[in-house]
Amino acid sequence: TLAIVLFTQDLRLHDNPALHAAHTRADQVVPLFVTDPAVAAAGFAAPNRVAFLSGCLAELDAALRRTGSRLTVREGDTAEQTAKLAAETGATAVHVAAGVSTYARRREQRLRRALGERLHVHDGSLTAVPPGAVRPIGRDHYAVFTPYLRAWQQTPRRAPLPAPRALRTPDDLPSAPLPTATPTARRLPDPGEAAARRTWQHWHADDYADLHDALADDATSHLSPYLHFGCLSANELAHLAEQRGGTGAEAFARQLVWRDFHHQVLAARPAAAHSDYRPRPVPWHNDPDEFAAWRDGRTGFPVIDAAMRQLAETGWMHNRARLLTASFLSKSLHHDWRPGAAHFLHHLVDGDLANNQLNWQWTAGTGTDTRPNRVLNPLVQADRHDPEGTYVRRWLPELAHLPTQDIHRPWQSLLCPADYPDPIIPPDATGHRLRTALGK
Ligand code: FAD
Repeated sequence: TLAIVLFTQDLRLHDNPALHAAHTRADQVVPLFVTDPAVAAAGFAAPNRVAFLSGCLAELDAALRRTGSRLTVREGDTAEQTAKLAAETGATAVHVAAGVSTYARRREQRLRRALGERLHVHDGSLTAVPPGAVRPIGRDHYAVFTPYLRAWQQTPRRAPLPAPRALRTPDDLPSAPLPTATPTARRLPDPGEAAARRTWQHWHADDYADLHDALADDATSHLSPYLHFGCLSANELAHLAEQRGGTGAEAFARQLVWRDFHHQVLAARPAAAHSDYRPRPVPWHNDPDEFAAWRDGRTGFPVIDAAMRQLAETGWMHNRARLLTASFLSKSLHHDWRPGAAHFLHHLVDGDLANNQLNWQWTAGTGTDTRPNRVLNPLVQADRHDPEGTYVRRWLPELAHLPTQDIHRPWQSLLCPADYPDPIIPPDATGHRLRTALGK
């Protein structure tokens, strides 16, 4: 018998339920990736992610070749191309990982229509605990993180599955070229499963509990692009963190639970990718010039501008900086979260519908935050999380000469370069618009 494995966001050999099922149940396996123009048409194929994806696919192909197999790439509608390959090869089964987005659901429905009983959808590939596996009584998902965390911690997780050592694949299957794109970021992370595992091995979890918010230390794992494309499974990573132990690894595992949490919200409410999870009663204050200043890092608040430059130059941003910039746009400027989220998605190598849209909504007060009207004061936050101004100096070299006491408040320094903008809102009133809109 022959089975197709349709790779989507699970570009790995280890702990891959779809690949493992195909390998253990069929004599021959055809690993398939379909470059689907619908992803580009939906605006999701941003250059940094396509370039990184392409590298991950090349690495996946290389790893498959070491087992005696290889990756077949096709271009077109995923369901049509998969059904066509199934007809070409006489496949009796097609294995694919379950997804949570509307796009993934539709793809699954279309595959089901084209393949019927031959389609096998595998849970537990995208997240450590599958969406819907734990639910509060009488509801289809958890809307608050802490009870979800408690339930998650009590849920048994399967042992990671081994990578297949040898695969048999027909060698006469035509394959399309890998997708290509020129990244806008100066440098992308090394792509693929081996690079993901190296990143984990070399990362020092010990300092994480203390330093995960320290902007200058940059002490987080940088595993997010690998998790987004499934170069490393969240389930295996949760096991690895448990094995490593200690407060740092525990704090890290908690972040993986945030990831699972947002995925189970999106799985239950796919519309939260574009509309308010909790509708906001007050209209937004939208102003295109202000938005452009935020987007281009010209707000006059150095910590915000530094973060936006980090995003533009590297396709990645520190979590604390994501919180600050998203809060600045949605709370301090009181702008709709959607254009901000879209700008992030255009640049982030780890840009992920569940994590990006639901973190934006959390920050904007339309999501799952139980204190939706909290405002992160960018100056207080900058003093706390970048006390020496090292992060600002790294990304805004034009301010590097300012003394530390002025680095987050250049407007008070005689040494401030003339072309660095004045703050676009009064620095002592960063929560003013939100409070006014709420009538407080
Ligand atoms: P670590 O601190 O090492 O955490 C390990 C992993 O846990 C991360 O790789 C990620 O998969 C997960 N994680 C960490 N924090 C969160 C969180 N708050 N929510 C969900 N998962 C989390 N993450 C994305 O992967 N893609 C996005 O598009 C994305 N957009 C965001 C937008 C905003 C406005 C905010 C506030 C956060 C966003 N995050 C997003 C979450 C978080 O900022 C990144 O996952 C993290 O910065 C990635 O760096 P790391 O891998 O070094 O994280």
